[in-house]
Amino acid sequence: MDYKQRQRVLVSSLAEHKIHLLLITHLPNIRYLCGFTGSAGALLFGGSEPVFFTDGRYTAQAKDEVQGARVAIEAKSPLVAVAAWLKKSRRTGALGIEGDHLTVAAGERLRSDLPKGLRVRAVSGVVERQRMVKDAAEIERIRRAVHLGSSLFLPAVRNMRPGVPESQVAAKLEYAARRAGAEAMAFTTIVAGGVRSALPHGHASAAPLPSQGFVVLDFGVILCGYCSDMTRTVCVGRPTGQQRAWYAAVLEAQLAGIASVRPEATAGDVDEATRKVLKKNKLSKWFTHSTGHGVGLEIHETPRLAAGQGEVLKPGMVITIEPGIYVPGQGGIRIEDMVVVTETGCEILTTGTKELIAI
Ligand code: ZN
Ligand code: ZN
Repeated sequence: MDYKQRQRVLVSSLAEHKIHLLLITHLPNIRYLCGFTGSAGALLFGGSEPVFFTDGRYTAQAKDEVQGARVAIEAKSPLVAVAAWLKKSRRTGALGIEGDHLTVAAGERLRSDLPKGLRVRAVSGVVERQRMVKDAAEIERIRRAVHLGSSLFLPAVRNMRPGVPESQVAAKLEYAARRAGAEAMAFTTIVAGGVRSALPHGHASAAPLPSQGFVVLDFGVILCGYCSDMTRTVCVGRPTGQQRAWYAAVLEAQLAGIASVRPEATAGDVDEATRKVLKKNKLSKWFTHSTGHGVGLEIHETPRLAAGQGEVLKPGMVITIEPGIYVPGQGGIRIEDMVVVTETGCEILTTGTKELIAI
């Protein structure tokens, strides 16, 4: 990971945000910028070199992981240490803080501790925008995470039959993930069967799988810090004609979404492409969420692929394409792949069949 290059890009953008210093407190952003993977720290930019503040629990880890920044081990909390450091260094001007992440209480505390000549300015999405386009080393890690995630699907299907609790399907999938080397799941595994498949985020419950109906499986792993995200929908019992038609429509929408991904298309264009197919099939009123999202160190990143989003896609962005329909009282279907935007279109990272599997 080329942390110094990332830091250079960030520092060169400070003036554009009308700030002289920038304090990074969101842990995934800290990891992105200097490699630290612990759970307490603050990274300050704008001085002669970046300074990373953490506490004594992380002395060895910070020494081992942090690149491109001076490490300051402090007995006090990172934010108190930052304020003391700024006082001592007599810095003046505007200090940027991450408005999307710092709590109101922490912001107030920081303000009251700062020296007179410094004013606080909340900025939004500065590092997140930089993180949208992944570099080659990140894409390689994402590829490995997605590969591991994809390998869990078919074994999970083999554990599914009528009467088996959703939680048991999830448990076996998560156990297999950890055995295969996953650091953690990227989010709470979704296994939603029968009428529960109509809940877009139906966490695996104690409910038994039905004797007939859809089961939505949405899961992801974290590997080397990077997330995977995949959804497949299978049918327990023989699918009815209507179930086949619904599934075919969602798959057609998902493929249309993938086909629309290319540099210069907007995030809104991709959403429009999936929605159009479901509209043609008179199913768009059941498509109640956006088409997809960026994925990387976090499971939900920018860009957001939703109606009217003007964000222009660029090579190196990694996004999901995941249209779905949710018919209350009947069932739901979602199909989700991760893709990376290329110079000419996109490459699908997720593997595994999207044909309707009947169990
Ligand atoms: Zn998902
Ligand atoms: Zn997703």
